[in-house]
Amino acid sequence: MMIKKNILLIAILLYTSSAVPQSVCKVTYVANEGFLLETTNNKILIDAVFGGFKGTWCDIPDDDTKAKIENAENPFNNVDIIAVSHRHSDHFNPAMVISHVINNPNCLIICPKQADSILALRENYDKVRNNIIAVTPPPNRDTTIMINGTEIKVFRLEHSHYYEQDEKTGEKINIHRNTENIGFLFKADGIKIFHCGDSNPMNDEEYKNFNLANEQINIAFLERLFMYHVTAKGIEIIENYINPEYIVLMHVEPGKIQKYKDVAVQIADRIPNIHIFEKPMEEKTYNIKNN
Ligand SMILES: [Zn+2]
Repeated sequence: MMIKKNILLIAILLYTSSAVPQSVCKVTYVANEGFLLETTNNKILIDAVFGGFKGTWCDIPDDDTKAKIENAENPFNNVDIIAVSHRHSDHFNPAMVISHVINNPNCLIICPKQADSILALRENYDKVRNNIIAVTPPPNRDTTIMINGTEIKVFRLEHSHYYEQDEKTGEKINIHRNTENIGFLFKADGIKIFHCGDSNPMNDEEYKNFNLANEQINIAFLERLFMYHVTAKGIEIIENYINPEYIVLMHVEPGKIQKYKDVAVQIADRIPNIHIFEKPMEEKTYNIKNN
């Protein structure tokens, strides 16, 4: 009788697991907006190849992690794609990118043209130039790249603004106005993963135009300023134009994690499933139900 029960149980388990096919995405928080994304057949490093400076505004890979990235060592071995949202040093270190690709020659680099021009100034650029896909769609445009069956949509997204006063004129100038920032939507092994880089979370026209809610995104990596406070415009943008299943809030200053966790709790009825990583190299596995 016991044996029959066990057979029945196994049959039920087999049935339920085959009835709801799932895909798995393992996310490792490297630092700031940098993540290692692992699905069945894809290993992607996004905004994670940076470091070698000191700062308090964001997490920065420590010496050990930096060396592992440069040497393409576990867990950064066999990376298929290095994706770079923009040229800023808390997202991109050209020498580290080149070192990684020399040690992992099958890896492709997808970056804005501006980041490619910075790579081009570096020693050994010739050794990696054939691995680079440099793409900057015009404002309000996107383009699609296919790599070994993985579809990658690249969106031109305005960089968030930061104003400094011009010493001569007294005029306030947005110092990031000329920075090319791109967002990525990976369709990897049945999972749709979006990363916005340092997108401007006030630019509702841009998000309305792209209307990412149609994409049925599973995991969206969003800049903290989207949830700067409970009445932030970014929250409405998420609800109306992104609407992902899960959110990872990124670019959070180490001392301000609780502030953003509090916002996440207060808006949980409108936007559930928000995660904020607390320490570099923390991991989280997402089980995604395939439609
Ligand atoms: Zn930036």
